[in-house]
Amino acid sequence: MKFTPSPHQAAGHAGILEAGPVFAKLTAQQEIDFYAEARSRLDDSLDLGANLYDWMPTFMGTLTQGAVNSPDATVINPDQILVDQVAEQAALEEKYIVLQNLLYGYKNPCILDIKLGAVLVDDTVSEEKRLRLAKVSAETTSGSLHLRVCGMKVYNGQSDEKPPLLDETIAVESTDSGKYLKFNKFFGRSLTIENIQEGLSLFFVKSIAPELRKALITTFYQRLQLFYNCLVDAEVRIKSGSLFFCYDADPARWDQLQVELYGEQDRIFDEGIAGMDDESDAGSDDETNADCPLSRLKFIDFAHSKFTDGQGCDENVIVGVENLLKIFEQLLQ
Ligand code: ADP
Ligand code: MN
Repeated sequence: MKFTPSPHQAAGHAGILEAGPVFAKLTAQQEIDFYAEARSRLDDSLDLGANLYDWMPTFMGTLTQGAVNSPDATVINPDQILVDQVAEQAALEEKYIVLQNLLYGYKNPCILDIKLGAVLVDDTVSEEKRLRLAKVSAETTSGSLHLRVCGMKVYNGQSDEKPPLLDETIAVESTDSGKYLKFNKFFGRSLTIENIQEGLSLFFVKSIAPELRKALITTFYQRLQLFYNCLVDAEVRIKSGSLFFCYDADPARWDQLQVELYGEQDRIFDEGIAGMDDESDAGSDDETNADCPLSRLKFIDFAHSKFTDGQGCDENVIVGVENLLKIFEQLLQ
């Protein structure tokens, strides 16, 4: 397995890696612990979506810096699930967390990272960071809506045209498979209660026919409702976690699609990981994407998260999901 820099990133620290269906990023022990804990609490008797882990990328284990750079690195065992390659020396080195690559199989991924909560730090951070992030929250929709667009990347076909909204925060990136609009962190920080709906509407490309666009937005809305129900029952405190929205804007997948057949290309939940059971897929980059769902909603970024049994639900995060549901209702009108 050979990791290379991931070409598609919505927000966050630089240096994310991928190897086919596998994603890796440097992280703190707290995030590794949270993933391991969420997975161990998975209760199969509950409906899909009722477990927090259902909303998280599949956790595969960890790698040390040395191992991730080695062409021989093998994280995956075919039966999946936890392979902690180098547990003994690991404590001394920075670790990569190894997850399901949420964009695997997508030809033209559109991605959106929305940070939830008004309070963005836990009690492990320095006073300087606490004050700095309190200021960011107070000046943005993090404070007012408990949610903030952290970054967005949207397929723009062959066009160089930018939308007029906050266009100084948008860059056009050219790739072999077309052009992308990259909305930087100041796009999301500049959005207000008044224009956040317009800002989020830019995530859904115009090249998708209106009734299919509506089906896509409806699927995200249904996922958000189920995610909300899950959070209400979860005793956690998640600071600076993000909702990660993605869909494949590949024109070949949308242009021929009829609304009645949309459900065959997309699902509320996708079980398993495309490509994991078929080694030959990992290296090829076309014709295979019809296997993976058109879109996904996942909860990511748990470096400041913990399970807090007996303490009730995470109001700070839930209010953000409530407000996001309202915005999606408006987008559907
Ligand atoms: P950070 O602490 O740097 O903010 P995140 O976990 O939020 O770390 O990840 C940063 C970015 O990496 C996200 O905005 C997203 O674009 C990408 N990313 C994170 N997890 C995955 C994944 N499992 N698959 C694909 N992309 C991912
Ligand atoms: Mn993040």
